[in-house]
Amino acid sequence: KYPLSQRVNAIKPSPTLAVSQKAAELKAAGADVIGLGVGEPDFTTPEFIREAAKQAIDAGHTRYTAVDGIPELKKAICAKFARDNQLSYEPSEVLVSAGGKHSIFNLLTAWLDEGDEVIIPAPYWVSYPDMTLLVGAIPVVIEAGIDQAYKITAAQLEQAITPKTKLLFLNSPSNPTGMAYSADELKALAEVLRKHPRVLIATDDMYEHILWTEEPFVNLPMVAPDLKDRTVVLSGVSKAYAMTGWRIGYAAGPKPLIAAMKKVQSQSTSNPASISQYAALAALTGDQSFIGEMVSEFRTRHDRLIAGLSNIPGLKVRPGDGTFYAFPNIEGLMQAVGVDTDVELCERLLSEANVALVPGSAFGAPGHFRLSFAASRDTLDEAVRRIAEFAAKYA
Ligand code: PLP
Repeated sequence: KYPLSQRVNAIKPSPTLAVSQKAAELKAAGADVIGLGVGEPDFTTPEFIREAAKQAIDAGHTRYTAVDGIPELKKAICAKFARDNQLSYEPSEVLVSAGGKHSIFNLLTAWLDEGDEVIIPAPYWVSYPDMTLLVGAIPVVIEAGIDQAYKITAAQLEQAITPKTKLLFLNSPSNPTGMAYSADELKALAEVLRKHPRVLIATDDMYEHILWTEEPFVNLPMVAPDLKDRTVVLSGVSKAYAMTGWRIGYAAGPKPLIAAMKKVQSQSTSNPASISQYAALAALTGDQSFIGEMVSEFRTRHDRLIAGLSNIPGLKVRPGDGTFYAFPNIEGLMQAVGVDTDVELCERLLSEANVALVPGSAFGAPGHFRLSFAASRDTLDEAVRRIAEFAAKYA
């Protein structure tokens, strides 16, 4: 009776949002569930940002804005790229959208045709393959396991590129693995990309600031300036400023491409919420010390969590470089429990240990689960205790 489009039938709802919802439902029903499925900081948006939003309302900034964002915010984004990344962009090379997800969607809609191939390194952020399918293009997944720190090599990239390849996704530091590419690793990828001028690079820098490596953050255009005119940088304020609900993301890249993405946005959502734009402006131009405090807390939690998980038989875990996720390999535990899939293991953990996690297969990496450490230290300690108790039962 309702023959839906082939494109929508090809995709599934976001699995991370589904886990959070299930955990919330169980909690509401009275279960003592610890939900570590969420992908958002547990911090409150800093006060000066909230104040800026209130002021924006009172000043009457409650109408349509320019489709691509208010000029002040676009200028602030250009200043951010100059300050943090030594990358020079004009406001006409920047588009503000309703969250990082929206920026990515605009890019895929503007750049891809039916049958075009998109290279997606796995473990990947859940939405890349489905968004690719939704615009009729083909995800080509490169697998990178724990032994290569979940990062693809230049040789793997070279092998995956075909005459149909039109886009490569890079996400560093990575959701779900927490791993970041070093400058040398990116330079090696750049060498390959130089040989394939048709391939555009989408670097998703959403977690840029949530990083604790000795080497400062780098992305592809920073180490390979000659590829800047083939790269779109995708970012936003959601994670760095604990602003997931405000829905402000942005893209920077070559002017013709940004103009095309703006055209897509003009015929779909128009401008992102005016009030959120003023809040994002305050975030990018105000006191940045909040980020350091939040990252320091995430790092402490990371260290405790990795130490705790390392002691659990059947788990293999590598310390991450950043983000607020841990991504242990759980094949040993799956074997001990006698289940074939990570989905089953996560179901068992939820029903027997009251811990909600996202199975690695959602990220194209079966045999793992993702724990978000956007939760208090006590909660994390308790989650580790429960997982350890669960594992001990089957040891
Ligand atoms: N990119 C990555 C890697 C993410 O993890 C997320 C959010 O989970 C996004 C983009 C999208 O962020 P936003 O909430 O701004 O749409």
